[in-house]
Amino acid sequence: MKYTVIGAGAMGLRYGILLQEHTDAHVDFIDAWAPHIDKIREQGGVYVSRDHENRRLIPINLYTPEEYEGDPDVWIIFMKQMQLEEMLERCAHLFKDHQVAFSAMNGWGHFEKIAKYFPEDRIYGGTALVATVLNGPGDVDFIGKSGAGTMHMCAMTNEVTDIEKAIFADFQQANLNPEISDDFKGMCMAKIVFNSVVNTLCTMYQITMGQFISYPGAREMAMQLINEAYDACDRAGIKLINTRAEELESVDYVSRTGNPLHYPSMYQDMSRGRKTEVDFINGYIARLGRENDYVCRTHEFLTHGVHLAELAFQYH
Ligand code: NAD
Repeated sequence: MKYTVIGAGAMGLRYGILLQEHTDAHVDFIDAWAPHIDKIREQGGVYVSRDHENRRLIPINLYTPEEYEGDPDVWIIFMKQMQLEEMLERCAHLFKDHQVAFSAMNGWGHFEKIAKYFPEDRIYGGTALVATVLNGPGDVDFIGKSGAGTMHMCAMTNEVTDIEKAIFADFQQANLNPEISDDFKGMCMAKIVFNSVVNTLCTMYQITMGQFISYPGAREMAMQLINEAYDACDRAGIKLINTRAEELESVDYVSRTGNPLHYPSMYQDMSRGRKTEVDFINGYIARLGRENDYVCRTHEFLTHGVHLAELAFQYH
């Protein structure tokens, strides 16, 4: 199988390099961030470490959209929400009828953009419960030991197809620990709600996931956000793949045990002066509520809260 990763950032590198190293797939990467591309070319690959250890140089095939001439079976798309539209436009000349697109980006907004180029029956979504940090150009840390993290995947049509089974098998071999879901929207929303608690609160208060969950009121704060989001989903007719109680336990487990030392990617963006994805996470939940005659007051407040934190960070 041939995969081309659009977005050789933290997650694109994790998926692409694990596929390249553990399967017989051919993997190419497309990126557009010049300092990253220049560094990778200059040093002959990407430096990859695991929890700050075993740093090693791994060569990759990296192109800009304009240089690329490949024809993959599967596009793996890992941009930040705000960058995606422009990147897809730059890659549009490469998209063909036999190809499928897979993305496990956070938030909601990417599938509408991908659907401008691929019909729904060739789009596969995922949710990745794993932490990865791009330390800087050409340098990435796959947080957690080999085999860390889990993911769900599902076709946008909810049908399990042969190509999905083949991707699943490769992801399994690459130690990405995939599980196939049978409800696309329910799967995506469960991750959006998770991120709306952990990413958002850790970013606003500039703390790690372990520091967040060590606060005695953390579970109560989480439950308030979960309840509001689930109430909006109930009104929108979306049934999440986790119950409310399971969602809370997931927040607790991942923060306390899974990645206690990790600053979520939203914090990493803010701390580097980049915009966060909050409008596509808490902001999306709030919009879903409003569209269904329900006001998610806490999510609306926190969307402002993160934008205010982005602004405040620039004054420091
Ligand atoms: P990333 O920011 O590391 O990379 C995305 C793109 O941004 C890449 O093209 C990269 O080259 C570019 N980029 C990186 N730093 C830049 C900078 N300073 N200026 C300009 N461009 C820059 O993003 P990611 O962490 O791989 O996230 C991709 C998607 O996956 C997002 O939706 C994210 O929420 C989601 N996600 C991330 C993680 C994680 O732990 N990183 C986990 C699960 C899901």
